[in-house]
Amino acid sequence: MSKILSSETWERLRSSGARTVALQFPEGLKRRVPETAAALKEAGYAVIISGDPCYGACDLATDALSLADILIHFGHAPVDDRPGVIYEFVQFDFDPEVAEKATSLLNKDQPVGLITTVQHAHLTDKVAAVLEARGFTIVVGDGNARTPCRGQVLGCSYASARSAGTSQFLYVGTGVFHAIGVGLATGARVVALDPYTGFVQEADASRLIRRRFVQIEKARKAETVGIILSTKTGQRREDLARHLVSLSPVADIICMQEVSPDSLLNLGYDCYVNTACPRLAYDDQVRFPVPVLSPPEYEIVRGVRDWDDYIIDEI
Ligand code: SF4
Repeated sequence: MSKILSSETWERLRSSGARTVALQFPEGLKRRVPETAAALKEAGYAVIISGDPCYGACDLATDALSLADILIHFGHAPVDDRPGVIYEFVQFDFDPEVAEKATSLLNKDQPVGLITTVQHAHLTDKVAAVLEARGFTIVVGDGNARTPCRGQVLGCSYASARSAGTSQFLYVGTGVFHAIGVGLATGARVVALDPYTGFVQEADASRLIRRRFVQIEKARKAETVGIILSTKTGQRREDLARHLVSLSPVADIICMQEVSPDSLLNLGYDCYVNTACPRLAYDDQVRFPVPVLSPPEYEIVRGVRDWDDYIIDEI
């Protein structure tokens, strides 16, 4: 049996009565496709594999699902309630004692909100116990429909951090994007701990803000504006796109599945506003030929939001 398929998933497959199973893996796990398909075929299932890029549960392989009875989506927790999909979280372990490395940057006199990604959410209580044993008060916020695990954050949702309501957070995970996002979403101080290397740092949003300010100023000169509306299952913000297009007669809504530098270049607009995955504007601006603003940033350009009310985009 494939180790990537949990006993719960095998049980759900059996009870679903499915005969053909579609598989969807994120990029970092795609190498596990052949062994997973082999295990399912050995168990008597026919298999359809989605080969398209996948970065989140917001991008379900509906084409592959249309050829199958059920879809197994690997690596992410659900972002919405969609029938016919089994979510197989993939857990990445680390030694919870690594949390000790973060204690020098945390203030023991105030509660610490604990946040992480879905891959590490199963270790949240153990990390909390390590810190509590050292005298810290730990708060883990509730999940919601988009982030169902306690303390879980996504690049498009920091609701669990808001629910914790603390003035400092410890983010356990790689990179600093989520930590910066929590800082911008809550106004709190955020310490980021890489659970593999033990490297610990304070998340600093100032560089991101400076870069975004430059793009906002460039966008003020745009004579044509494309409002990007994603057709992906969990990124489609139609009402928001309609609101944004109503702010200026020079704006048009552009429906897209994949947002690529080439497609934006060929469309030829002076500026785009991204209502798809928020990370596109923040992480990938250097790849794009013209400013790609978040919805709140575009509201600043159009004068319906003050710069002092700058907020990070969330779905
Ligand atoms: S919208 Fe972006 S950040 Fe949110 S789940 Fe999808 S890929 Fe991840």
